[in-house]
Amino acid sequence: MTFAMKVTLSLSKELEDTSKLAGWFEEANSDLLTRGGGEDEGASVVLDGVSGQSMDMTITSGRRVRPHHALQRLRKFLAGNLGMEYKIGIRGADVLTYSATFPLEKAVKTGFSVPFLSSPIEARDAGEVTVEFKVTGDEGDLDIVTLEALNQNIPDRVIKRILDKVEEQHYEGKGEFWELVWKSEEKEVVYSGDPTDDMVKQGWVVQGPTKGKWFLRPQATAVMRAMERIALEEVLIPLGFQEVISSHIVGFDVWKKTGHLEGMPGEIYYVSEPATRDPAAWEEFRDWLKITKEVPDHLLKDLIQIPRAGISYAQCPNIYWSFSGRTLADTTLPVKIFERAANSNRYESGGRHGLERVDEFHRIEPVYIGTAEQLGKLKDDFVVRYKHVFNDILELEWRMAWVTPFYMAQAGQVGVEDNEEKVKGTMDFEAYMPYRGDRDSEWLEFQNLSVLGDKYIQAFNIKAQKETIWSGCSGIGLERWMTSFLSQKGLDPDDWPEGFKKYLPRLPPGIDFV
Ligand code: ATP
Ligand code: ZN
Ligand code: MG
Repeated sequence: MTFAMKVTLSLSKELEDTSKLAGWFEEANSDLLTRGGGEDEGASVVLDGVSGQSMDMTITSGRRVRPHHALQRLRKFLAGNLGMEYKIGIRGADVLTYSATFPLEKAVKTGFSVPFLSSPIEARDAGEVTVEFKVTGDEGDLDIVTLEALNQNIPDRVIKRILDKVEEQHYEGKGEFWELVWKSEEKEVVYSGDPTDDMVKQGWVVQGPTKGKWFLRPQATAVMRAMERIALEEVLIPLGFQEVISSHIVGFDVWKKTGHLEGMPGEIYYVSEPATRDPAAWEEFRDWLKITKEVPDHLLKDLIQIPRAGISYAQCPNIYWSFSGRTLADTTLPVKIFERAANSNRYESGGRHGLERVDEFHRIEPVYIGTAEQLGKLKDDFVVRYKHVFNDILELEWRMAWVTPFYMAQAGQVGVEDNEEKVKGTMDFEAYMPYRGDRDSEWLEFQNLSVLGDKYIQAFNIKAQKETIWSGCSGIGLERWMTSFLSQKGLDPDDWPEGFKKYLPRLPPGIDFV
């Protein structure tokens, strides 16, 4: 990777005698600018010309001594010499152009733009690419590469972003990695309705009041709560999990660490705080509301703050946050906790379907932290418990598959394909949904089980006394457990398996309407 910067130094007065410059630049190139650079990774400078009070130069460099660092050294060096020799000072440095040249291992399939670049990346073959950074712009432009931006390593992150975007273009369309691990026997289809439709017809649930939300009446609530008790009593409590309660609001700082904010910004339900709680500030808003009976959006937008948080997408980010910077005692490992108070919210948009894919759902999320060995064992124990639930209590037709979570693949981490022992990675649990069609494709993920290595441990700087630790989580989606079960067994409690009836002997009567 090489960088090139054209820069103009402005001098405090005109430099008439330029005879010394060649020597100074040679001196800078032979030592000053290569220091700390090793072979090929230092910087060098070429004097492009001097006119009046300006001195133009081009600094090129490898990875180690970046042009802006070289510029600092050079400026000091030249200021010393110019001062001594001619009593001339250096007033400032203006970057005219700044570019980076680096190899692209894959072709750019479709052109794209990236902030801080002066022009978009065009579709092209693999090979060496040169990008120009935007060093000047209009007033108000936020993506100008100033000297300050250079110090914050903005160019490196721009390059990383370009490489990631190219990588994503090649990843798209490949689909998720999916490998069957285990499947139950086929079950005779005894019901093939869409359970959500039937629950609506029988008054178990009401859709709304906003997008992708549902109101569960007593019957559906009883089924969900029975599912919850099964998860607790048959899986989490026997495995020694302790319950915690988290906030269901997640700050951006937390999601920046887990990667959710960059991973799915379009699925987040954002949360705004009011700009003020001063009643006087809201007076006009209330006037409009009372008079027009409509929410005055034009006033509201100035009365709320830009969001700095969102509603929980999954519970684990706040759970990891609660451990940030702490050192876990070896005696407490593996940590085993679960959360079921914070609802998950996701903007599913076109994908919404019934209670299977909703915008607000109820998930129990166990999180575990321990050594690789401890988590490998725990994962096996989970599978034993889960199998008992889905085989003996819910009597489902279901299967387990080893999958690559997209965020791991995109982060360029070891694909689970390479991970033979299958400890690190994610297992999806899927149920056959008869109403949707045949067994080739109509399966619904109703939960998953992951061991994520040290990704979050690192992100939140969680430490152990002497062990190296990993973490993982499992997402038990109660709406998914319920719809998987009902779509195979139907809504008539007489048809439900005995194991489930132990948890729900009879349905509540519900509410009658006329
Ligand atoms: P999908 O591929 O179905 O969108 P996901 O990969 O987004 O699922 P995860 O982020 O792995 O799901 O969440 C874990 C669990 O949360 C899922 O197995 C499922 O039980 C539940 N879940 C996720 N999204 C929804 C949703 N929109 N409605 C109901 N449950 C959901
Ligand atoms: Zn999680
Ligand atoms: Mg999803």
